[in-house]
Amino acid sequence: MSDELQDLYRETIMDHARAPHHFGLREPAAAESHQLNPTCGDEVTVRLHLSPSGDRVESLSWEGHGCAISQASASLLSDLVHDLEPAELTERIGLFRDMMRSRGEIAGDDELLGDAVVLSGASRYLARVKCAMLSWVAVEDALAKLPQAA
Ligand code: ZN
Repeated sequence: MSDELQDLYRETIMDHARAPHHFGLREPAAAESHQLNPTCGDEVTVRLHLSPSGDRVESLSWEGHGCAISQASASLLSDLVHDLEPAELTERIGLFRDMMRSRGEIAGDDELLGDAVVLSGASRYLARVKCAMLSWVAVEDALAKLPQAA
């Protein structure tokens, strides 16, 4: 990764950490999950909101606190979920996990992961992987609680 790209990625992460998107839990929610990353002290609660037809994720609202990576990651994820079927969202969480476990080997597909590819650099730091994964694990858990996924 070039230094320029790395700077751009770092800037995007800091922007999201400073002014997170879709912050604040909303009603009504189809499913909720609360996750904790005790090694860093990060905490996140996510809520899934479905489309009126109930077959798509319309939006995600969330609250949390912790390090910049964990908060930016939740914000980036909240930008990604719009209008995805639960199965599509599950697939993208899998891709994100592959990227985060790759120790910098997988850059991530921005068509599927959007701006969340900026977190690929954090995959080199084992302690940071859990921070980045926290909200994605929460959404995975919330998806499993959806009535049609049961
Ligand atoms: Zn953290």
